Amino acid sequence: MQKDSLVFDLIKKELDRQRNGIELIASENFTSYQVLQAMGTCPTNKYAEGYPGKRYYGGCEVVDEIENLAIDRLKQVFKCSWANVQPHSGAQANGAVFLAVMKPGEKFMGLDLSMGGHLTHGSPANFSGKTYEAIHYGVTKEGFVDYDQIEAKAKEEKPKMIICGASAYSRDWDYQRIRAIADEIGAIVFADIAHPAGLIATGLLNDPFEYCHIVSSTTHKTLRGPRGGIIMLRNDFENPWGIKDPKGNTRMMSQLLDLAVFPGSQGGPLEHVIAAKAVAFGEILSEDFKSYGKQVIANAQAMATSFVNRGYNLISDGTDNHLMLIDLRNKNLTGKKAQETLDKAHITLNKNAVPFDDKSPFVTSGIRVGVPAITTRGMKETDMEPVVEMIDKVLMNADDEAIIGNVRGDVKELMKQFPLYPELD
Ligand SMILES: *Cc1c(COP(=O)(O)O)cnc(C)c1O
Repeated sequence: MQKDSLVFDLIKKELDRQRNGIELIASENFTSYQVLQAMGTCPTNKYAEGYPGKRYYGGCEVVDEIENLAIDRLKQVFKCSWANVQPHSGAQANGAVFLAVMKPGEKFMGLDLSMGGHLTHGSPANFSGKTYEAIHYGVTKEGFVDYDQIEAKAKEEKPKMIICGASAYSRDWDYQRIRAIADEIGAIVFADIAHPAGLIATGLLNDPFEYCHIVSSTTHKTLRGPRGGIIMLRNDFENPWGIKDPKGNTRMMSQLLDLAVFPGSQGGPLEHVIAAKAVAFGEILSEDFKSYGKQVIANAQAMATSFVNRGYNLISDGTDNHLMLIDLRNKNLTGKKAQETLDKAHITLNKNAVPFDDKSPFVTSGIRVGVPAITTRGMKETDMEPVVEMIDKVLMNADDEAIIGNVRGDVKELMKQFPLYPELD
């Protein structure tokens, strides 16, 4: 067969784009070459509906070993007793959690999307907001999660579940406080650690497993694995909420969650991606990944300082994790304009609503900046100031194509020092 050069040329073009730019999208990262290799392999051909040892198809003995290896390694990473590695994405993982524990119309509480939350935490445009009754908490005017508001609203509204976790929040979470609030009303605490999971895995942020009943994550953000989702329990438990499976039986929480992933919301698992997850989890257990986590935080701190020194207004005045949210209103720029202008210089990040934003979600007053990807490329604290200098130069000359063109050249030159997938040359 002739090589499909139309597609492979585009893939090469995308590789060049990734190599030549500065990637600051907080939810992105670069997997290892081994993770990439594992994804492009033959388990993609295998139907394996069900779970290891309990499949609906023959010939699953090898994919059973692959999936069990992924589960065992993930359990080691987060010191948990049960894990499901089948969710195709973070949103799918969250969908399964909802399906397992909530009946349509029941009430839950999550961080407002406009304050840093995620679509699956009750946006009216998402299944979570359409199927269930979503109520929201926000952040204080200083930009920290408003735990007093969580407490007051929880007592008034008595949601069945409280979600902690965010997509654009630069501070750590007080899981202990949320659990204490939940215990007063008998609510389930569900932590969605899609963003900071890699920093939690390395012990650099508070441990949600100590206080949250259920934890979900993506695998492709700070965990640096293939695109996918996971669900975990530190300790399995018989659910005290009397939640039943579709046949009306009371089940252990692990069983409710397994049933909600398959057959509840997915069909066959992506065993090639699960193989890549296993590779990534193996990497996370290494000393190298511990250093990576520390470097991510060091880089975020250094970058935050550089922005502040240039008069940028950081929400909550700083960061505990891998990202920062910047309010551009004092610079007379919108998030949209900043994103589009930086794109021209091959500096990639996203516009983002800031808390109490007066602009639409399509325009926004802010940008979200994250360092997981550039840290994987090998950048250190001392590389942050030059990066911020380039961002500032572009933003302060947003209508000067010549200056932007010069920065684009500088960006390409800089990134040559940090090779990406040299194996592919
Ligand atoms: C990214 C993210 C998700 C969803 O992940 P997808 O893989 O894009 O579906 C869920 N929750 C939070 C908090 C996220 O940041």
